[in-house]
Amino acid sequence: MNSKFKKIDATVRDLNHSTDAHFKWLINILRFVASRDVLLPDLTCDDAHNFCDFGHWLNTQLQDDIAGRNYLLDIKDKHIHVHKMCRELIKAIEHDECNNAPFDDFETALLAFTASVSRYKAHLLQLRTSYDALTGLPLRRILDESYDSMNKALGDEGLYLLLLDVDHFKKINDNYGHLIGDAVLRSLALNLENNIRRAESVYRYGGEEFIILLQAHSDREATEAAERLRRVIETSETVSGGHRVKITFSSGLTRVHRGETLREVLERADVALYKGKQSGRNCTILINKSLDCINVSY
Ligand code: GH3
Ligand code: MG
Ligand code: MG
Repeated sequence: MNSKFKKIDATVRDLNHSTDAHFKWLINILRFVASRDVLLPDLTCDDAHNFCDFGHWLNTQLQDDIAGRNYLLDIKDKHIHVHKMCRELIKAIEHDECNNAPFDDFETALLAFTASVSRYKAHLLQLRTSYDALTGLPLRRILDESYDSMNKALGDEGLYLLLLDVDHFKKINDNYGHLIGDAVLRSLALNLENNIRRAESVYRYGGEEFIILLQAHSDREATEAAERLRRVIETSETVSGGHRVKITFSSGLTRVHRGETLREVLERADVALYKGKQSGRNCTILINKSLDCINVSY
């Protein structure tokens, strides 16, 4: 399974643990205050937010999660404020100035803190639904975002879109059952991921259709990359439920031109894919902007 998918799960788990730890911190504070015992300095010092378990988690997460940085900075802000309001409350209790204000301020700070944590959690859960549960691959929403940023950054190296569709996949389900069909899709996804270059990504477009954004200087380089993938899959097999299943795919390959929308590029790749299915399958069809198609498989 895609490591990004697992990482999101681990982050949500760690976030829950760290939030629980913060409640323990709060109980400890109350314990000390109630017993009028000497408060531990690391519970109440000015930078106590860096010493509590939540603070440790937050500082590490700020380094790890660049995409979630704004959410994390908001949490950091609210977290510091919780600690500050807690200190104010303790001071008020110690000086027997127990009016409602410091309690209300602490409550407001706690609510703002938990709301900021909930916003980050919602962001993580939305991110998680942007990945396919079966293969762990990114789905359409991530494709849209990556396409836009890659298209804007188009340099000397060209961008190509490869749309691929497994040949006669219905027969795999009919012959071996859906579970084995699923295993075949999972191993196809893994195989594709293992055979693309580092800056490239595979997306699950739907059913048994996948998209790869390839980086290449020329049509020739792009077709070589696409053909290499086609041959890797053609010569691989999935072993599942006592069966050895082999598959092939047909694909449409097209260059992305500056400013083109993903929809325009997909429509063109789809025309090529359709040609590939008509010309006997297990092939790569390169299509240009005038919709001229060439079968580049050998
Ligand atoms: P073609 O070569 O023309 O593409 O033939 P095909 O059989 O692959 O195409 P068709 O569109 O008729 O069938 C696609 C099948 O893929 C039908 C659908 O049930 C199956 N499928 C789609 N998503 C999944 C999935 O997640 N798991 C499994 N097991 N099957 C799936
Ligand atoms: Mg299909
Ligand atoms: Mg198919």
